Amino acid sequence: MILNDNSSRSRRAFLKKAFAGVAASAAGATVFGQSKPVSAYEDSAETARLAQSRRMQDALPDRYKDKFRITKLETFKVKRCFLFLKIHTDHGIVGLGEPITEGRADTCAEAVREIAPYLIGKDPRRVIHHWQAIYRHAFYRGGPILTSALSGIEQALWDIKGKALGVPVYELLGGPTRHRIRTYAHARSPEAVREAKKEGFTTFKTGVRNKLGGSIIANNRQIAEAVDYFAELREIVGDDCDIGIDFHGAITPANAKILIKELEPFNPWFIEEPIQCQDVGGMAEIARGTHLPIATGERIFTKWGFRDILEQRAATILQPDLCHAGGIFEGRIIAGMAEAYYGSIAPHNPLGPISLACGLQLAASVPNFLCQEQVTLGEGYIKEPFKVVEGHIPLPTGPGLGIELDEDALADKLGHEWRNPETYNESDGSVVDW
Ligand SMILES: [Mg+2]
Repeated sequence: MILNDNSSRSRRAFLKKAFAGVAASAAGATVFGQSKPVSAYEDSAETARLAQSRRMQDALPDRYKDKFRITKLETFKVKRCFLFLKIHTDHGIVGLGEPITEGRADTCAEAVREIAPYLIGKDPRRVIHHWQAIYRHAFYRGGPILTSALSGIEQALWDIKGKALGVPVYELLGGPTRHRIRTYAHARSPEAVREAKKEGFTTFKTGVRNKLGGSIIANNRQIAEAVDYFAELREIVGDDCDIGIDFHGAITPANAKILIKELEPFNPWFIEEPIQCQDVGGMAEIARGTHLPIATGERIFTKWGFRDILEQRAATILQPDLCHAGGIFEGRIIAGMAEAYYGSIAPHNPLGPISLACGLQLAASVPNFLCQEQVTLGEGYIKEPFKVVEGHIPLPTGPGLGIELDEDALADKLGHEWRNPETYNESDGSVVDW
């Protein structure tokens, strides 16, 4: 998708192009042009909007009077299930972001398209100002789609700002608080854990082996299978490494309490999403019933979403996803809120290398960082993939997000039709969470 400020196409032509773009999106990049007002009212409203924008820009300090404008936005669906964003500027600097909710790539690309007219022609360096305008002027705020679109845009604006100043984003957030960043591997099987240990990982996360969500109270065999599997992984990991377990919010509160009690002797590093995060009171009750740390956050949006979690002491490890929660600076604010409660952050990230790069910039600049999730170090996506040494990724040094897309390697990854899993209770066919 591309939106730019020099189009003279009519609205009808724009819409035709837009729908063509949606069709083309299955193959990867989608291209849009900007609409042109079609009525006198829209024309005068647009003229007034531009005049207001110019007045506000002229009132800023001199350094903002230099011409530095956003020229177009471009989105690409990239395998496995990613959506990449490029924000172009008249300085030749391109910012990168991942504006996506998993399974809703086209919906998020459309949300970016609708936000783009606000950004085109504006100075990309006013990151916080644009965040506020996009978030608050929407009137209907938050939610996974709009906040993910905003997150990817915010990431790209930070990338542009860092590149323009020639410094990593973490320099703009106060400078490094650490010299390397701990990251964990997914422990999908005993063999995967052994392999990841050989690669240098020292921290891991696994899931619940069997599905207890279909039962109000799980039977003994279900509980035993889940605990035995975790115990096996714990044995492989050893006492020098850490392993957390993610319930994925897929278990009833009653089962979560039973399972946590049975897992306590094996000291999981944390229990992630023991129940659905909307039940903050229920999660707080679970947190009070165990000595194990509770983690949550991948489905919580913005500082306002995390406020209740902290105030009710529902979790001590916050896991904002920087592609969903509002972006890098929103993550910084959430980290600050967690610090006030002596909590830590472990950014959630099942997405691509741009998302990982954002997490590293945040991790590099906060005092209360625990660990960074990742599913790819960027091989086949970026020119210099990240490396794990002794369980840590060295501090990035490049300007902005510190990465550059490998366009040649990406060529065969453009386009996907990734869908969310459909999961059902095997005994009666009813829907269960995955
Ligand atoms: Mg999770």
